[in-house]
Amino acid sequence: MKEITNKLQEIAARLFNEGKIDVFLAWEKGEHDFQTKSYAARSVDDVKNIIFNEYSIYNVSNSLLKFRDGQERIGIAVKGCDSRGIVRLLEDLQITRDRLYIVGIPCPGLKDPLAAARSFGGLGKKQEPEGLAQKCLECIQPNPVIYDELIGSEQTPRQQGDRFAAVREIEAMTPDERYKFWEDTLSTCIRCYACRQVCVACDCRTCIFDEMKPQWVGRETNTTDNMMYHLVKHAHMAGRCIECGECERVCPVGIPLMLFNRKLIKDVGELFGGPEAGMQYVEGAKPTLSVYRENDPDEFI
Ligand code: SF4
Ligand code: SF4
Ligand code: SF4
Repeated sequence: MKEITNKLQEIAARLFNEGKIDVFLAWEKGEHDFQTKSYAARSVDDVKNIIFNEYSIYNVSNSLLKFRDGQERIGIAVKGCDSRGIVRLLEDLQITRDRLYIVGIPCPGLKDPLAAARSFGGLGKKQEPEGLAQKCLECIQPNPVIYDELIGSEQTPRQQGDRFAAVREIEAMTPDERYKFWEDTLSTCIRCYACRQVCVACDCRTCIFDEMKPQWVGRETNTTDNMMYHLVKHAHMAGRCIECGECERVCPVGIPLMLFNRKLIKDVGELFGGPEAGMQYVEGAKPTLSVYRENDPDEFI
């Protein structure tokens, strides 16, 4: 990891010195060893703060949303999952390719800083399992899918077995069992919106959940409002979720949000085929479910 940090710093310094970028997005160390945060280096003097360590798990492509309306030329370090987020943003026309210099890092699998924080400070100091984060154990794309420069050699995906096994279990339930499962599961949602904030595919400028006139979705944490929130949020992810697992990782109450996302990935794959979201970037190409035609043979709803 130290080698990758050194290389990242070297590349960022070179890009600043050559006048090719105005900002470099990566990670920096926090107060504790496990507190690695997103970071924006603004000059060559900042480059020393850039790190890549076992906790650099945050999907840094999400940080690009803060720069979408500017003109800055942006260097950015990406792992496999982050790079799929960049494809997402390019396809959604949130940023242009010519503003980006992408440094790819084939990802060895990382730990979850939030799990480490819970072990560090939790009530009774209940220890969470050490080792790779769940999303990294389930990773299908550790290698960047888009980059200008690559650091390190390719990694093997860690996902083993049937990726949709948990989804099939839910599908096998009766409608009543399934309703009860989701009613119980979603009853713990506190509507903190962390899963929305961390999601690179949630890139609408005005979010339906923030609208007050009309208020499309109620704001109470009751069964109906919670279900509506998740139904709407995840319907918007169909064909768009890049499976980075960040939403589930940051959920403070441990809701298994990847069950929703994988169900949609599975269904979209079966119904429409084609590459999964963010797996490849073809300029001008439109991903599944993102093209509107006035003469569409189907009804609107
Ligand atoms: S999901 Fe894959 S690419 Fe992303 S941090 Fe984990 S191992 Fe790395
Ligand atoms: S992060 Fe978890 S608790 Fe917060 S809104 Fe999302 S599902 Fe609900
Ligand atoms: S819905 Fe979750 S897994 Fe999918 S892109 Fe958003 S944060 Fe990543």
